[in-house]
Amino acid sequence: MGGGNITTTFYVEQNVLSRPPYNFWFQLCNVVQQQRMKGYIKDSEHMSFGATRPSDNCKEAYVLAIGESLRYDNLSLGGYCRKTTPLLESLDNVTLYSNYYSAANLTMYSVPQIVTRATADSFVLNYKEKSVFKPFKECGFKTFVICAGNLLAEKPHYYLSDGCDGLYTFKSEDDDDKIAPLIDSLSTVYPKTFFIIQFKGNHGPYNNFRAEDNKFRPNPVYDKVAWTDHNALVNAYDNTVLFTDYNAYNVIKAIDKPGYRSGFIMVSDHGADYDTGVSDHGGNCNPRKAEYHVPLIMWNSEAWGKQYPEKRANMLSHRHQPVNSDNIFYSVCDMADITIGNEYAHPEWSVFQKNLKEHERRLLVPDGKNSIVVE
Ligand SMILES: [Zn+2]
Repeated sequence: MGGGNITTTFYVEQNVLSRPPYNFWFQLCNVVQQQRMKGYIKDSEHMSFGATRPSDNCKEAYVLAIGESLRYDNLSLGGYCRKTTPLLESLDNVTLYSNYYSAANLTMYSVPQIVTRATADSFVLNYKEKSVFKPFKECGFKTFVICAGNLLAEKPHYYLSDGCDGLYTFKSEDDDDKIAPLIDSLSTVYPKTFFIIQFKGNHGPYNNFRAEDNKFRPNPVYDKVAWTDHNALVNAYDNTVLFTDYNAYNVIKAIDKPGYRSGFIMVSDHGADYDTGVSDHGGNCNPRKAEYHVPLIMWNSEAWGKQYPEKRANMLSHRHQPVNSDNIFYSVCDMADITIGNEYAHPEWSVFQKNLKEHERRLLVPDGKNSIVVE
């Protein structure tokens, strides 16, 4: 399918089926479908990825970080004219992938595809299988999910973190900077740790930044100027990018402990098309590139690079290849040298492998059923 601002099925569901006289039967169908999903989730409690890795005593800490509404175009790391990512740029071993797309433009459909093997045309896998913390747990890692964005920790998406060793959530505003200290402590206490973290990030309204990040002015948060003033809105957005830069940097510093083999992979769930002046994401089934072209940021410690020089060289060589969130599950496992069972494995989708294979990139549209090819 393609074209149009919303799909026909989405239109019919919203405007016909969910209203009398069809709504009773429509809701009944939804209940039946939800029961089926709950059955899948329950069955997945006992699944195993058959994950293995060479055993050793080295201390390790790995992070999968999920950004929120972070668009690629506004990172100076990627060439943006404003200095919005000075801290990440100050680090050695940071790599930005230039051609990574999210696989949905709504959080509720994108995040499950980042943390599980689900893709836009096999979304049901996010109910049938556990998230990427599971292979780490099978290999003896302590696994933690830390949310300031909250989707991973709340109904109906709690199943995505259910079964990890620790779940931490922050409820108040501006909590993204509480994540790094927690990672610092936990990775000190436990010798092998894996974290999935979710930032509140850059979601609208663009007010998630500290006074220290109030560099681009005027903006509607600190000055008497309206959100309808486009330049002021971009100023506010860029300040939120400065705060994200600060938080991503601190998370990396938290796992960059002497001698630790550690790694960090960060992606955003979707972008922000604030140029349309209506809604910045998720509002239609035919989004513009700013909604799905997002950063994939990689970092690895010196000790990791010494242990896996080939993985590092491969990852660097692919940094302009087209990839999307379908690649994340396999890359995160491969970063920690975890091999999963044959029925789950897809090694040519790991960016750490020499033979990374390009694949068609699809985006699950806001009806949650159809997907489009994005190029
Ligand atoms: Zn989102």
